[in-house]
Amino acid sequence: MIKYKLGCECKHTFDSWFSSSSDYEKLRRSRHISCPKCNSKNIKKSIMMPQLKSKSNKIAISKKEKNFHKQLTKLQDFVEKNCEYVGDKFAQEARNIHYDKKKSKGIYGQATSEQTAELMEEGIDVATIPWPKKNN
Ligand SMILES: [Zn+2]
Repeated sequence: MIKYKLGCECKHTFDSWFSSSSDYEKLRRSRHISCPKCNSKNIKKSIMMPQLKSKSNKIAISKKEKNFHKQLTKLQDFVEKNCEYVGDKFAQEARNIHYDKKKSKGIYGQATSEQTAELMEEGIDVATIPWPKKNN
């Protein structure tokens, strides 16, 4: 048995089973296949390959996203355990640590993109990471 995706002249599509490709040709020529939606007997095979291809691409991407999210969560756990949360005072605290080297503990918190750019210009080690959970 072969399953074909068929389409009529008004672009309806439907699946149909045939015992072989010659059986399909025979039925089509004798006008025994008709569109279930509009009854048209002007039926053509439609190509299925592009659909299959895009489906497998989607799976590959979602797998990658999953790994990425996993790594981010790990990184987040590490930061939460080893660094001090300073909230929106991040830019100020980062400068304190950089200029007065007493504190050696890492910090994390929120900073605007302008603040981050300023810190980087001053040679302060800053990393921006997208936070997967909570509102930090
Ligand atoms: Zn139709």
